[in-house]
Amino acid sequence: MRTLRDQKIVIATHNKGKLEEFAALLKPYGVEAVSAGALGLPEPVETESTFAGNARIKALAAMKASGLIAVSDDSGLCVEALGGEPGVYTADWAGPDRDWNRAMRLVEEKLQAKGATTPDKRRAYFACTLCVIWPDGTERVFEGRAQGSLAWPPRGALGHGYDPMFVPDGETRTFAELAPEEKNRISHRARALELLVRDLF
Ligand code: IMP
Repeated sequence: MRTLRDQKIVIATHNKGKLEEFAALLKPYGVEAVSAGALGLPEPVETESTFAGNARIKALAAMKASGLIAVSDDSGLCVEALGGEPGVYTADWAGPDRDWNRAMRLVEEKLQAKGATTPDKRRAYFACTLCVIWPDGTERVFEGRAQGSLAWPPRGALGHGYDPMFVPDGETRTFAELAPEEKNRISHRARALELLVRDLF
């Protein structure tokens, strides 16, 4: 049986916000997690058009470079009124200097252009696809979503990325106004990880 319990794994990310979420979520399971960033591994180019495809690219690169079991995450924001955009291009909308205010403004401009001014027209979800690859090439994929709607102007100083404009269903606060442990109970990453934990621990 495949398990990650008590294993040393590499988290295939250079994103500090994601790494902190992973570390907190995996802590109870005795996993020793190091990040691709901390190991100085190069960041592969994400050339696929699906979350699963890009997650696989990242996990494979980190596994090959480190020799460790690799867990990757590819995630993004899918906005209903924009036909699922920015989707796999979520990070790209922040430009090369990863300016999240600019990215959120771009989403808002496009929503305004569509006349999407009420919450029901501003539905969106965060998607997270996790890919686990073992050194022998075995792969597993897990997907989680967090449904919600988009607020404007952005609110809150916690979290990362598009958190200040995302209000998860059942909440009035944005992800950036939730304490990390609150976000970690309902986020797309937490949901995908829940499936991973069910299968691999
Ligand atoms: P990638 O998975 O590194 O290709 O990038 C996905 C992008 O989606 C991130 O850089 C964030 O901007 C955004 N994103 C993913 N998860 C979250 C989240 O939990 N909160 C806010 N933004 C997120």
